[in-house]
Amino acid sequence: MKFAPLFEPIKIGSMEIRNRLIVPPQGSNLSNPDGTVSQLMHDFYVERAKGGFGLVITEIVAVAKNGNAILQQPGLWSDDHIEGFAKLADAVHKHGAKLCTQIHHAGRQTYPMFIGNEQPISCSPIPCPSCQVPPRELTTCEVYEMIDNFIQAAVRAQKAGVDAIELHGAHGYLVAQFMSSYSNRRVDEFGGSLENRMRFPRMIIQGIRRELGSAYPIIFRISGDEKVPGGRGVVETSTICREMVEAGANAVHISAGAYGSMQWIIQPSDAELGIITPYADEVKRAVDVPVITVGRINDPYTAETLLKSGRADIISIGRQSIADPHFPNKVLAGQTEEIAPCIGCNQGCIGQVFAGFGISCVVNPFGGRGVNMWPPAKAEKTKKVVVAGGGPAGMLAAWVLAKRGHNVTLMEKEKELGGQFLIASYPTGKGDLTKPIRYYRVMCEKYGVNIRTNTEATEANIAAENPDVVILATGAVPVKPDIKGIDNPKFVLANDVLMGSPVGQKVLIAGGGLIGAETADYLGEHAKNVTLVEMKDTIAEEVQAVPRITLMGRLESYGTVLMPGTEISEFLADGALVKKNGESVKLDGFDTVVLALGTEAYNPLEAKVKAAEVYVIGDAKEAANILKATEAAAALAVKI
Ligand code: SF4
Repeated sequence: MKFAPLFEPIKIGSMEIRNRLIVPPQGSNLSNPDGTVSQLMHDFYVERAKGGFGLVITEIVAVAKNGNAILQQPGLWSDDHIEGFAKLADAVHKHGAKLCTQIHHAGRQTYPMFIGNEQPISCSPIPCPSCQVPPRELTTCEVYEMIDNFIQAAVRAQKAGVDAIELHGAHGYLVAQFMSSYSNRRVDEFGGSLENRMRFPRMIIQGIRRELGSAYPIIFRISGDEKVPGGRGVVETSTICREMVEAGANAVHISAGAYGSMQWIIQPSDAELGIITPYADEVKRAVDVPVITVGRINDPYTAETLLKSGRADIISIGRQSIADPHFPNKVLAGQTEEIAPCIGCNQGCIGQVFAGFGISCVVNPFGGRGVNMWPPAKAEKTKKVVVAGGGPAGMLAAWVLAKRGHNVTLMEKEKELGGQFLIASYPTGKGDLTKPIRYYRVMCEKYGVNIRTNTEATEANIAAENPDVVILATGAVPVKPDIKGIDNPKFVLANDVLMGSPVGQKVLIAGGGLIGAETADYLGEHAKNVTLVEMKDTIAEEVQAVPRITLMGRLESYGTVLMPGTEISEFLADGALVKKNGESVKLDGFDTVVLALGTEAYNPLEAKVKAAEVYVIGDAKEAANILKATEAAAALAVKI
């Protein structure tokens, strides 16, 4: 059987899981405000059990009211929380999976607004460099009380019928704060030496073992390397893992990073697959319990390699399990081309969660807060549908409508499907964006969508189809603001540069949003001398935090001249006159001027087409972001 090693059962302590593919904890913002399990959160996790994962580990579950790291975080600090977890455990079990909850306290890595406007607490009064909120130092007595909070949360989980507990010692949260000299400056029995810094997690694990008995499975999660100045490296991590196993942990789950090194917690799309597995590999030499690895493992080939090479025993499928909750079942059935791929963009998942909304996914909106829309009902009446525009929104709407039984024709004027996704796949590190195009195409073909490329949707050819429904997903086009000199025929559009238009050595890019910054990245990689002018005070403002870190790092490494807060007042034949800090500056001597000054909706057909139902979705309605486009497509496709 292909990928057989992924489907071998394995034991964590007394708990046998049916395969080596598990869902790691990922904040969803889907719980009720009081920390109980909401119906949507319940359904979100059950879908992963249905999809074939062996073990589903819930997101961070707070052990105290002041422990939240996100706005709507589930808790186990009260007996009132038990019932929701009990129902969840039952439902997960019905689908053959096991349920684990991850007990957690954010410590200093939070904001007062997430914890009832209280001051965060920590082992020492040092603010997290990212959150920058000064925490209150716990007294020694309070440390013992906090240890008990963790133990009592585990007791409640067991009462709920949850199969295992994961203690969250990774990513710079409270347990990690105690363990690392990066954040711990205590001089009582919980600070100073490594032995003392390990006391907090060791006492929690020993306490859970004491309360829950020798058979109850405990997983310990830790960052293999914190990737921050003065943070912990993998040798000390291995030592801690050995000690936690001795204290009673039955498995270790090796991640990386802290908030000060977020790109290691949530790796961007340009990170190699399995990038943090070397830490799991290192820890595996030091312990004799199963080692779980995580980090951009989003296809079965990589997962199998990591298992077969002995670098880990269990594979955590993180964001890929949001993009496709049915990843294991599809691998097992040999339907790998039907797996909705994660592209590492962070826009729909962690980006939404950090913005205070429920989790979603740009590629597959049904994988997150849209889970209740899946599977969609069969159409009551088969309709003839024309979708104009083969970008992501159009393709997604087309295949879901066809799956529901409609007769769908998809028209795309270019020779390839993909729209903005295809263009957006050309900048450095964005190659993964071709994956969803391929996936949508496969799904369209599977459900019999009549795909017509090289066919621009027009009033006439839509009318020729005599459709009941027309969906206009014609996307957006670049804008040219009314700036003197902008109509120079030698100027090129950023999209055209990405698709191969030649440029000279010295390039001025007008506009430093997503497209301008990624074009600068692409040209920098090709050894061009680039100056990037942006009116706003921040370059690439709309890019998600983590991809932005690596993008800005690359622009700096190329020596790109970045000019945020700079307004273009006039274009010259070889540059532009700009205003910066109230002063006029002449930027000239450029071989090429590239325009990346935004986009606007392109919707030429709405007023012309005739059908019983006409809908406009995605950028054709409002040039916004890809998540809005695919979510609108998904919501429409399930209701026609
Ligand atoms: Fe992956 Fe992007 Fe979907 Fe998040 S939103 S799961 S990173 S594809």
